[in-house]
Order: sequence, then C-alpha cells, then structure tokens
Amino acid sequence: MAKSDYYEILGVSRDASEDEIKKAYRKLAVKYHPDKNPGDKEAEEKFRDATQAYEILKDPQKRQQYDQFGHAAFEGAAAGGGGFGGFGAGGFDISDALRAFMNDFGGDSIFGDLFGWGGSRGRRGAGGGAARGKDLQIRLSLSLEEIATGVKKTLKLKRMDHCSVCKGTGSKSGKRNVCQTCQGSGRVRQVANSFFGQVIQESVCPSCRGEGYVVADKCNACTGTGLQKVDSTIEVDIPAGVSEGNYINVPGKGNAGPNKGPSGDLIVLISEKPHEFFKRHGADLTCDIDLSFSDAALGVSKTIPTLDGKVNLKIPSGTQSEKTFRLRSKGLPVVNRREQGDLLVRVHVRTPEKLNRAAKKMFEELKEMGY
Ligand SMILES: [Zn+2]
Ligand SMILES: [Zn+2]
Repeated sequence: MAKSDYYEILGVSRDASEDEIKKAYRKLAVKYHPDKNPGDKEAEEKFRDATQAYEILKDPQKRQQYDQFGHAAFEGAAAGGGGFGGFGAGGFDISDALRAFMNDFGGDSIFGDLFGWGGSRGRRGAGGGAARGKDLQIRLSLSLEEIATGVKKTLKLKRMDHCSVCKGTGSKSGKRNVCQTCQGSGRVRQVANSFFGQVIQESVCPSCRGEGYVVADKCNACTGTGLQKVDSTIEVDIPAGVSEGNYINVPGKGNAGPNKGPSGDLIVLISEKPHEFFKRHGADLTCDIDLSFSDAALGVSKTIPTLDGKVNLKIPSGTQSEKTFRLRSKGLPVVNRREQGDLLVRVHVRTPEKLNRAAKKMFEELKEMGY
C-alpha cells in the first residue's frame, strides 16, 4: 500500500511551524476521533494516519529524518523492534494512535470540552445556583480477559464531598449574608484604560466568587468551604470491548460543588495491561506458536488458548513457517455491537538444533530423497 506524505495528511506545508503542525493535527484528531465516529472505519483510518504523521512531525529529530529519507527513515523498524519510528513490529495501528493521542492531549482542556469532559458545564452565571464541582479523572488498567467479557469494577478514590458538619453550607448556623463587595449581584465592575479610552469591565466578584452571598459564621470543620475530603467507593460497569484511551463518564461522582453545589463527574480512563500471549489490533488478537519440523511437514492438531477457553487448530501438512491461521470470532467484542474480532495465530517452524545419531541418519536419508 502506498504511503501518503505526512505533510499532505496533516494538510500543512513542508516548512510549517511546530505550532501549525499541532493545530492541524488537533483539528483532524477532533474530527476523526473514534469516540466521535463509532464504527466508522474510514474515520478510524484517517485518525490513525493523522496521528502517525503527527508523531513523526512533532519531533524535530524524526521530522528531519523524514524530510531527508521519507518513509524509508522509519522502515526496518519492524525487524529491530524499535528504530526511529518506534512503532514496533505490528506497525502503527489504531490502539497506538489512541495511546499517542492520550499522551499528547489527554489532559488538554480543549479536547476536554469537545469531548464533554467537564469544563464549560462547571461555569454558571452570577446570582444563579451554586457552582458545580470539578470532574475527577482516574486511570483504570484492565486485562484483555476483563475487556473481553466486560467487568464491574469497584474503584476506591478520594473526592471532595459536602462537609458533614455544616451539610455543605460552610456555615455553623447555615446563615449567609449578602456579599458586601458586589451587593449580591455576583459581578463587579471596574474602569479600565484601553486603546479606545476608558471602558467598563465586568467580572466575577472575587469576594463571593459570583455566589452573591458569603458565609456568616464559618464552619470549623471545613473552614467555610462547605467541602471535605472523603474516601469514596464507586462501582463502574465497563462494557466489553473497550480499548486504551476510551473513557467512561460516571455522572455526579466527581468532586462536590461549594455551597451545596452539584457534583462534577468521574471520568474513568481505560488503559490496557499487556497480555503474556496475545497482542491486540483493534478487535483482533494475534499470537505466535512454535511448530516442529515434522508437525509442519505432516500436519498436526494444536491446542490454542483463547480468551474463552482452549480450541483445536488443525494445521495442514506442508505448512510453511510464518503462515497465519484465522480463528473466526475468537478475538475481542466491539463495544455496543454484536461483532467479534478474530484470533490470528502465526506459526513459526523450528529447525531441530541437537540431532541424535538416529535422527541425524533419518535427516540424511530424507536429504537423499530430496527433502
Ligand atoms: Zn463544614
Ligand atoms: Zn460578591
């Protein structure tokens, strides 16, 4: 398959600045992110290609290699399992792309807003109800076995909850006074000098942070904030088929808001534990097995472990090394769909290393016969 030019993929010129490259990638990533285009293979490919291009071009050293040698600079990485690209033997697939994306932008508030991770929901107008609490993020590592079936997880975390002494009001008596700074409007006006002359700027009142009220007699337990740190146990249902970089939003399980304000959300970011036998490529799994010389020549029935028990794989006579067998529907499920990936089993024919006298004689006889 012909590889497209990384600059073309991102839609930038060859002398684009690092900032232009980042902006171009960000735009494409938001548009084509799998979370925004569930089940859309074309979008997934575009996201992967853009991420791969970005991973090279964002790094001045890799970019220079690419400018000089093109894609060839990163080939051969497969054999060495590293190289410049460091994309590993399996190439750069969608899970690599999602991982790279999370590393680059996971904590980025712009993406947060676009994907609905808190942000704008926390804001409110002056004089309205109490502010919403902050969203919390937690990383959850899952094994492939857990991902295959889906799993209920109990998370233990510390979060801010309403103070149990003052019930979140921040006040001993529950009394609040109208804020003297803003007279209860929650906004203050300031005269500022600008290019156009004097202008009046309005901003959130710093004394009451826009509440319009201040606590009359502060609660000792929470020093008037109305919040206290608590140990919290939260159950989350993880659907089958999730992958690295996915997140699950648990509404109302983030930090509580001040002044009895509503709680933010808990965002559970999924990461994937490496598996000792299987590698994941989207919904497909791959694994490698060894095959003896004689089994490859004569054919054999092999027992293959899968995520739901062992199966028999019939290997025909005359099988060559590196041949891949596909076990249909033995891969991972796809989130929220009745689809299942496959398990791809690659065989490696092992040449016998230590031959005893009898075996050596037989091999010599085989050789005589032209094998
Ligand atoms: Zn309190
Ligand atoms: Zn005020």
